[in-house]
Amino acid sequence: MPEEKKVVRKKIHATGQMQKIMADYFYELNEAAKSSAPKIAWCTSVGPAELLRALGFLVHFPENHGAMLGATRMATDMIPEANAIGYSPDICSYLTADVGAYLKGITPLSRAYPGIETVPRPDVLVFNTNQCRDVQDWFAWYSRELNVPILGIETHRGVGDVTPAHVQSIAEQLKALVAPLEEIAGRKLDPQRLKDVVALSRQCSDLWKEVLDTAAHKPSPITFFDGTIHMGPAVVLRGTQPAVDYYKVLLAELKERIRNNEAAVAGERFRLYWEGMPIWGRLSAHSKLFAELDTCVLASTYCNSWIFSAFDPEDPFTSMARAYTELFIVRSDPAKEAYIRRMIDFFKVDGVIYHDAKTCPNNSNCRYGMAQRIDEQTSTPSLIINGDLNDLRLLSDEQTKTNVEAFIEQLEEQH
Ligand code: SF4
Repeated sequence: MPEEKKVVRKKIHATGQMQKIMADYFYELNEAAKSSAPKIAWCTSVGPAELLRALGFLVHFPENHGAMLGATRMATDMIPEANAIGYSPDICSYLTADVGAYLKGITPLSRAYPGIETVPRPDVLVFNTNQCRDVQDWFAWYSRELNVPILGIETHRGVGDVTPAHVQSIAEQLKALVAPLEEIAGRKLDPQRLKDVVALSRQCSDLWKEVLDTAAHKPSPITFFDGTIHMGPAVVLRGTQPAVDYYKVLLAELKERIRNNEAAVAGERFRLYWEGMPIWGRLSAHSKLFAELDTCVLASTYCNSWIFSAFDPEDPFTSMARAYTELFIVRSDPAKEAYIRRMIDFFKVDGVIYHDAKTCPNNSNCRYGMAQRIDEQTSTPSLIINGDLNDLRLLSDEQTKTNVEAFIEQLEEQH
């Protein structure tokens, strides 16, 4: 029997610190829910979190909860509950897993954080459709179920160049949220507080970008799989000091690795870019699969989605509107293709993996020939993996393994 190859994937020491600030975040929300103060807002992952924090809300992100359901492999058992009340198995499996978990009275938070029994009950639900319509339907369900007000921003989609007209219309919608949110918050918006929060979000974003950009170094000090874990604070704690402090520590560690020429995947031979959603229930398995092939999947559109370089504390509403409209997922195919070509070049990758996530057409960009067009333009080969972010019934591990191995063989032949 052939000896199993020993795979070396370097552990990030800062992980313990990240786990601590994430625990503090969830326990603070839990306490607030129990004592009804501070107020709690639920927000979509690229929704107006800065405005909510500036008004004193603690912010819960249901997509983060959906990803936790996926990563703990609980999601697949929750989805049928939502299907049974009319939410199709074909729609977002964050939505169906999260609603299903609510219906079953289960949360992965209880396992990770003893003493927490449920997700924190919201005082308001705030969405932005910049990523998809599913988030609006998702929050609308909770609004009816919990009898909680729902507010939102309806974004342009398929945007080529982001024009002043796009930005202005979103800025106006953001401003229109202020009065109803003030009423729910029971306080007036302090303009200086909003500037401070936007400044903290910008710092968080800049540091997160620096963290991700370290992957341009050969060998890469970080993998995409590390990124999906360490993006937690950028998603749920942007606009706060702990997130800024954390990314300074993580960045220092990665720079130290670069100085020492330490690779995240020992013996890195091939460098790949991941386009599309992660497969949360297979993060560890996929990290191992690629590492065994001396291949580092080192960068992704997904982790880059929490980079908001347009934030400007001196002009909060306009800059928030711009940042939340410049996002990759909001853009037209030509704009997305130009972005991926820049990433291929910047990260010096040998190939691209496209994940066609069955229940997320919004973040599956390979369905209309994009992969083939980019292959031709950049002479960078690609592989499409069929799967899903959360519903593990929609992927075949054997097929994925066979396809990935064949793809790496193809890269070997080309080198
Ligand atoms: S972008 Fe995809 S994964 Fe995210 S909420 Fe929308 S459908 Fe779900």
